[in-house]
Amino acid sequence: MNRLFRRLPAVDVLLAALSETETFRNIPRTLLRDAINAFLDGKRNAVRNGTIRDEKELALAALLPELRDFVRTARYASLRQVINGTGIVAHTNLGRSLLSQKALDAVLMAGKYYTNLELDLRTGLRGSRHSHVEPLLCRIVKTEAALAVNNNAAAVFLVLDTFCRGKEVILSRGELVEIGGSFRIPDIMTKSGALLREVGTTNRTRIGDYAQAITENTAALMKVHPSNYRITGFHEEASVRDVALLGKQRGIPVFVDLGSGNLYDFASHAAAEFACLSQDEPMAQRIAADGADLILFSGDKILGGPQAGIIAGRKKYIEVLKKNPLARVLRLDKLTLAALEATLELYLEPGMAARHVPTLNMILLPEPLLRQKAEKLADILEAALKNAGAPVTARIRPGCSRIGGGAFPERDLPTSLVCLEPTASSFTVESLRAALLHADTPVLGRIEDNGFLLDPRTIAEEEFPLVAKSLQQAAAIAHDSELSEK
Ligand SMILES: *Cc1c(COP(=O)(O)O)cnc(C)c1O
Repeated sequence: MNRLFRRLPAVDVLLAALSETETFRNIPRTLLRDAINAFLDGKRNAVRNGTIRDEKELALAALLPELRDFVRTARYASLRQVINGTGIVAHTNLGRSLLSQKALDAVLMAGKYYTNLELDLRTGLRGSRHSHVEPLLCRIVKTEAALAVNNNAAAVFLVLDTFCRGKEVILSRGELVEIGGSFRIPDIMTKSGALLREVGTTNRTRIGDYAQAITENTAALMKVHPSNYRITGFHEEASVRDVALLGKQRGIPVFVDLGSGNLYDFASHAAAEFACLSQDEPMAQRIAADGADLILFSGDKILGGPQAGIIAGRKKYIEVLKKNPLARVLRLDKLTLAALEATLELYLEPGMAARHVPTLNMILLPEPLLRQKAEKLADILEAALKNAGAPVTARIRPGCSRIGGGAFPERDLPTSLVCLEPTASSFTVESLRAALLHADTPVLGRIEDNGFLLDPRTIAEEEFPLVAKSLQQAAAIAHDSELSEK
């Protein structure tokens, strides 16, 4: 073993060898050294556990190609581009919404140049960062005032902390939901110091249940959109309109956590699959019109903007929220504000939003167009597979996409899928999935039966060549591991 250890090339020898290539010369030497040390550690372990027995395997020429690959991989940024072939449009694990070109341009501007973030250009005096999106939100949602914070969880917390600390909030048992990522409505209430007063039952809550629970210690009536969860069958809930009316009669504010929050009128589409979406995700405009005092929703779910939490409603409440020191803790940064303003501006004209906000655009892709995209993707992938001599076929089959982001949990949108099927017994669909995950640009999809499914709804045409490249890499990785098994 010691003899083998001594055969391992020195760090400086490997460093010099790598530095002969342009790609590696541009990497800071300390980082290269770290990567080489990690690589050598791996080799020492392989010697220790007997995987490497032959000193030929430790020769410089034998190690170099592997080292280059290792350093290249070690140099990946932690946050990387991936291909979303899952068909889930606002996929929380994949960063939810993509930004429109207008929003991207705004982010670039705000990052590259100084801005009037907190400067009033009319007076030259100090301004408010809230001023950039508030007028737009008021115009779109049709409320007196609005405030945007870090995310919707922050919005809920800020509202509870401001108005409900030490007091009771009345909420239906059917709305005590967990959204995922450990956001549970009861927990966030406890944390804010608000006292949860549950009313009704899991499946049925009537307006009378709210009315009966009101005491002098009631700070608010609250409704929460159940998001990724649905009660069907014997079910009844009080409408926002009824709860708002009750609140008005008794002088108690009504807060509605809409979750996803939707500003787009899906009912304006004749196609049944789109028209029905507005039942699941009522427009924020409608909830405001129904009389809610504050409505809260995410910026990066169906809205299709950057991560943000939007609070829209009565001025007398929004002004109090702005003065809470927590609003400073939860405030938006300039890049997000820039992206949010640009995204909201598109909503001033719904047709523009549908065309240019990627989340809306992907949801609204018509079936025939998806079929065309699938055919094009399948052609490109087939050519790549043939080129690589990979034992995988690509064909098209009908299927469904999901919208994600906790919205529309039961709505499937029809789509055409590209189905990749391994044809060699040694190359399973599971190994194809793993290999695609480890490609330079990881590709994510779904496994069903014996196929790896890619949904063109969430893959841009400009990404098709990248998918082909990753598939070729995956075939090569799978091929290599097959050889090493033999
Ligand atoms: C998603 C969601 C949240 C959390 O929103 P984030 O923007 O992810 O913080 C809160 N409430 C409901 C009902 C949701 O659906």
